[in-house]
Amino acid sequence: MIKGTAASDGIGIGRILLLEETALVYTPHTVDDPAAEVERFRRAVDALVEETTRDAAALRRTAGEKEALIMEGHISLINDPALKGETENLIMGGQCAEAAYETMCDMFIGIFSSMEDEMMRQRAADVRDIKAGLLRILLGVKDVKVSDAPKGTVLLTKELTPSVTAGIKKGNIVGIITETGGKTSHSAILARALEIPAVLSVPNATGILKNDQPVIVDGSAGLVIPDPSFDELAHYTDKRERFLKERAELEKFRGRRTKGADGAEYELVCNIGKPDDAEKVIEFDGEGVGLFRTEFLFMDRSSVPTEEEQFAAYQKAALVLKGKPLIIRTLDIGGDKEIPYMGLEKEENPFMGFRAIRYCLKKKDLFRTQLRAILRASAFGDIKIMFPLITCVEELREAKAIIEDIKKELALLGIPFDRNIDVGIMVETAAAAALADVLAKEAAFFSIGTNDLTGYTMACDRGNANVAYLYSALQPAVLRMIERTIRCGREAGIPVGMCGEAAANAKLIPLLISFGLTEFSVSAPSVLRVRKCISRWSKEEADRVAEKAMTLSTEKEVSEYLESVI
Ligand code: PEP
Ligand code: MG
Repeated sequence: MIKGTAASDGIGIGRILLLEETALVYTPHTVDDPAAEVERFRRAVDALVEETTRDAAALRRTAGEKEALIMEGHISLINDPALKGETENLIMGGQCAEAAYETMCDMFIGIFSSMEDEMMRQRAADVRDIKAGLLRILLGVKDVKVSDAPKGTVLLTKELTPSVTAGIKKGNIVGIITETGGKTSHSAILARALEIPAVLSVPNATGILKNDQPVIVDGSAGLVIPDPSFDELAHYTDKRERFLKERAELEKFRGRRTKGADGAEYELVCNIGKPDDAEKVIEFDGEGVGLFRTEFLFMDRSSVPTEEEQFAAYQKAALVLKGKPLIIRTLDIGGDKEIPYMGLEKEENPFMGFRAIRYCLKKKDLFRTQLRAILRASAFGDIKIMFPLITCVEELREAKAIIEDIKKELALLGIPFDRNIDVGIMVETAAAAALADVLAKEAAFFSIGTNDLTGYTMACDRGNANVAYLYSALQPAVLRMIERTIRCGREAGIPVGMCGEAAANAKLIPLLISFGLTEFSVSAPSVLRVRKCISRWSKEEADRVAEKAMTLSTEKEVSEYLESVI
C-alpha cells in the first residue's frame, strides 16, 4: 500500500497505463537565417494555439466550463507577449527556436515556482505543459494521446497536465496516479471535474509501479494498492459500489434549495478561509458563505495585510459569490491561532486570554483597517460583518460604534459601501449563550460556534487527551446552550445560524431543526450530504426527537438515541 495525496474521491480498480514523457531531444545550434527561424517559431505557436483550442473544446464537453477555462488560460500563456517577444529576441540573436523557447519558459517556471501563492506556483506547471507542447511541434514528435486507452485504465504519470487530461475518455480511465500536484493543482481540479478517483504526489510512483500492473486507487483515502489480493479486491469493489451509490444519491440534491421534508426552507452555506475558497462554494453548490475566517489572510506572511490587500480579498470573494450572502468574521487570533509577527505575549491560559474581539478592541488601528476594507467590499455583494468571541454587550456596542464611525468617514469621502450592512456575532462562549436574550436585541444575527462553545461550556480543552471525552456538542449542557441561543434569537426575530463543525453532524440536525436554526454553515464538500440530511426531517418529526433527546441525562444516551433515529 502506497500513500499519496487524496485529490479526487472514489475507488478505481484497473490496470496501469504508464504515460512516459516523450523525449524532446534537440541540439541547440545557431541559425543562419534568424528571420526564417522566427517564422518557424510563429507557425509552431499558431499550431499549438489551434491544438489547445481543440483540447479546450474537448474539455468543455467532458469536464465542464471551468475546466475548459484552464486550457484557455494556456492559450493566453502561449500568446503572452513577454514570452513570445523575448523568445523572438533570442532567435534574432542567433539561437534556434527550441533553445530560445526553452530558455524563456525555464525562466518563467523558475519565477512562478518560487512564489508563495499556490495559484502562482500552479502557473509553473502550466508553462511546463506549453513548453513541452511547443517543443513537440517544433521537433515534429507525435503527441501521446490517452484517448485510445482501453476501459479499466489507471493512468500513471509524473505530472497530469491539462493537455493530457483533455484526451481522457471518462468511461475508460478509472483512476489517476501522479508524482506531483496537490489538492488544489489543476490536475486535482480536472480529476474531480471528471469524477475520476485520483491519488497525487505519490513519491517515485513511475519508478515503483509498472505498466499493465493491476492496481487499486483509493482517491478518498489517498492510497494506491498495487497487485491487490483477492480480499483487497473484494473489499474495494464493495467500497466502490457504496461510494457510487452514495454519490448518485447526493447528486440528486445538487442545484436544489435546502428544504426539510415538510418544505420548510433553510440556508446551507459554507465556511471558508481564503477568497479562492469561494469558488469551491460554487463548485460544491453552497448557497453562500456563513463564515469567512479572515485570520487566514494574516497567516503565512510576515506582516499585517494592508487595507488594499484585505479589500481585494473580500471583494474577490463577494464577486465570486455573485450576490450570495457572505459573512465576514473579523480577525480571530489568539487561543490556538498564533500569528508570530503580531507579537502576542505568551499567556498562562491563551483560550481565556487576550484574543479575537478583545485583541481587536485594543488594537484599534488594525481593527479599523479591517473594518474599512470589509465596508468598502460591501459595495460588491451581500456582505455581513460578524464579531468572534463576544462575551458581553459592551464589546458589541464598542465594535459597532467603530463601524458607524468608519461609515461616516467613507460617506464623507464618497466611497461606496452598504449603509445597511448587518452586524452580527458568533455565539461561541458560555457567556454569550447565557446572555443571548440581551445580545439578540443588539445583534442583527447570531452564528453559533460550537467548536469553541463546546470547549467553553464543558470547561475542556479539546487538545488535552485527558479531558477530550467531555468535548462533544451532544453533551446535554452544550445542547441547552444551543437551544437557548436559538430560542432567544427567534424570540427577538433575528436569524440564527451555526458555523461550528456540529452544523454538519447528522445526529444533531433534527435537534437544530426543532430548535429553529435557519442557517447551516459547513465545509464545502459537506454541502450535498447536509442538504440530504436536512431533507429527511419535518419540523414535527424533529420536534418529537428533540423532546426526547432533551430529557436524556448523558452524552452517551443522547448520542445513542440520535444514532437510532437517523
Ligand atoms: C467555532 O468556534 O465554532 C468557530 C466556527 O470558530 P473557529 O473554529 O474558527 O474558532
Ligand atoms: Mg471559534
